[in-house]
Amino acid sequence: MKKTIYVIISFFCLSFYAYPQIASEKNVEKLLSAMTLEEKVGQMAQITLDVLGNGADVYTSAIPFQINRQRLHQALVEFHVGSVLNTTNNYALPPQQWNVIIGEIQKTSTQETRMKIPVIYGVDGIHGATYVTGATLFPQQITLAASFNAKNAYNMAKVTAYETRACGIPWNFSPVLDLGADPRFSRQYEGFGEDPYLASVMGVEMVKGYEGITDSVGHKTKLACSLKHFLGYSVPFSGKDRTPAYIPPYILREYHLPAFKAAIEAGAETVMINSGIINNIPVHTSHDIITKLLKEELKFEGVVVSDWMDIVNLHTRDRVAKTNKEAVKLAVNAGIDMSMVPYDYQNFCRDLVALVKEGEVSENRVNDAVRRILKLKIKLGLLETPLTKHEDYPDFTSKAYQQMAYSAAAEAITLLKNQNNILPLKKDMKILVTGPNAHSMRALNGGWTYSWQGEKAEKFATGYNTFLKAIQNKIGKKNVSHIPGVSYIETGKYFEEKENRMAEAVAAAKTADAVVVCIGENSYTEKPGDLNDLTLSALQIKLVEELSKTKKPIILVLNEGRPRCISRVEPLSKGVIMTYLPGNYGGDALADILFGDVNPSGKLPYNYPAYPNSIVTYYHKHSEEQKPAQGAYNYESDYNPQYEFGFGLSYTHFEYRNLKVSKSIFSGNEAVQVSIDVSNTGKRAGKEAVLLYTADLYASMPPDVKRLRRFEKIELNPGETRTVQFTLTAADLAFVNTENKWITEPGEFEIKIGNQKTIITYQ
Ligand code: BGC
Repeated sequence: MKKTIYVIISFFCLSFYAYPQIASEKNVEKLLSAMTLEEKVGQMAQITLDVLGNGADVYTSAIPFQINRQRLHQALVEFHVGSVLNTTNNYALPPQQWNVIIGEIQKTSTQETRMKIPVIYGVDGIHGATYVTGATLFPQQITLAASFNAKNAYNMAKVTAYETRACGIPWNFSPVLDLGADPRFSRQYEGFGEDPYLASVMGVEMVKGYEGITDSVGHKTKLACSLKHFLGYSVPFSGKDRTPAYIPPYILREYHLPAFKAAIEAGAETVMINSGIINNIPVHTSHDIITKLLKEELKFEGVVVSDWMDIVNLHTRDRVAKTNKEAVKLAVNAGIDMSMVPYDYQNFCRDLVALVKEGEVSENRVNDAVRRILKLKIKLGLLETPLTKHEDYPDFTSKAYQQMAYSAAAEAITLLKNQNNILPLKKDMKILVTGPNAHSMRALNGGWTYSWQGEKAEKFATGYNTFLKAIQNKIGKKNVSHIPGVSYIETGKYFEEKENRMAEAVAAAKTADAVVVCIGENSYTEKPGDLNDLTLSALQIKLVEELSKTKKPIILVLNEGRPRCISRVEPLSKGVIMTYLPGNYGGDALADILFGDVNPSGKLPYNYPAYPNSIVTYYHKHSEEQKPAQGAYNYESDYNPQYEFGFGLSYTHFEYRNLKVSKSIFSGNEAVQVSIDVSNTGKRAGKEAVLLYTADLYASMPPDVKRLRRFEKIELNPGETRTVQFTLTAADLAFVNTENKWITEPGEFEIKIGNQKTIITYQ
């Protein structure tokens, strides 16, 4: 009897869970066959919110934002536009206001249009819900990478999904899976750094956090994510945003593709295309990349969205299309499903309808695109629930979420130098806090913080602590003096700075026990973040040099979206702490590390270059290092990062012993178990990221010096030892050859963990 009841219950459960999928496919075909060409094309258009607002033009809306009914009607009812993105006037809004705006949009889409298909709203919640007042802002992705703990990436995505859905928004243009292999690039901080494996692991966790671990993207706490920017966006030849990149296909596959591939396999629902040009082909026109690679080879079944204005750009910027219409044809035929138009949607719609009528774009291609879009809308539950409401999200900015954001920062901040154990500082010391980053929520957070460039952080991030405030909270105001020395000019051009009481700062240093100099960069992203010189600014260098003349111990606190070269001033310091962009709780995390309440455990997710002309990733060729065999000359160009990928100190000491492998010779699909004993031999508890590298000793193409293959973050009490285990297979040792095939060549491979090494042979 019990068994029968069990079978009946299971049957009902199974049919319940199976039903939405079946219904969704049926629904999609039903909807599609009832749609006119114009309605289908409208689904492929995405407009920015300001297009729908009251205001003089489509670029700016009146404040407070109000929907212009006529504009809304024209876009959604006359032109059947299926998607809206972004915020208004580049400002964060409270969840309640988001609900009102999206409620109005959905009312029109579901009541006034013939097909009654809701709009899918998309937004950039890059390190938390960027455009939502009061949301929990985490550290930026690069910071999460430095924590070497994928749980932090999962948490950020989970919280962002929840708080974004509270606004009624079901689609987020995140995570960034571009390979951060070039520190000059203004968006390096948006990704997980230079290692393909680290980015893959972190990226997969973000997909799970956004979309659910089982396919539950339609749950009210989950949303669709968008992997961006497919593919090869982050390494333009000039280092500047949206300038051409030259990437051989096998490099694209071996280094740039893995994170995207892993995230697609994890179920990511949408992908955004790279704005740029690779090998002289604008990616938005590349059938090879969008259709052949992404949709056919990787079997990506979700929605491919263009980046901002990038179809128009094919005409106006890249000049591969003589007209907008030709641009639309190139991009849609290459495989773009949705155009982030985002302004002139009427032309996009008219042009695409005409192209289909003229046979220049097949209706099948349009059907394929719309099918993907409808499927997504249905999966997200938009047809039943076009608007999720903030009152159903009681955990919005909960203590637990704030704690997650804090922990991510505390686990990521990286101790790079600690001469004579100057750190942690003692709590009764007199401290001078100086530098342009000492008292700035903007610098702490970076771009995509309440606005695109992050320039509004001081207005919105009230109630959080800058480095200065957190240090004052920690040791009391009495022992902390603050003089900026250098300040960013907020109204000036990007990266403009001015001296601000530098002489006073130097005078104050003389009476301090230690000087904490908070330096780095102000916030930025995309083109405004382009840079001519990766060296730390001249004024900040001057500040450190002047302060050093006092002979007081200097602690450099780096707060920057990319590693600005500090080789001139690093020797003047006793301690260096890298905070990256640690977010709203980064001030607290820094103070906890500075004064020893938290033991630092971050490690660099990229090589920190010493000089702008010496940019080399940690995976590089042997020819990039000076070896005795290459001659006795002292090459200025030798491999010489200031600090290497994976480097990071602790206040305790970890020892690595007993590196063992289950077999030293292996073949086929056999797995090799690798184990290592890690002991905390110091006096404090601490966390350690255990990194496993391999090196192919000889290969038919020059092998990399080393590659990260596995990592695990562990926590050890003083005197404790843990055996950490990893599994490797031949696939982990493969590279992409000139025929674009992954191969593992027989031969010897070195495994390195900490200071331990061993050789395994693949045959
Ligand atoms: C950026 C994307 C972003 C989009 C929408 C573009 O300029 O490159 O990363 O998702 O704008 O805001």
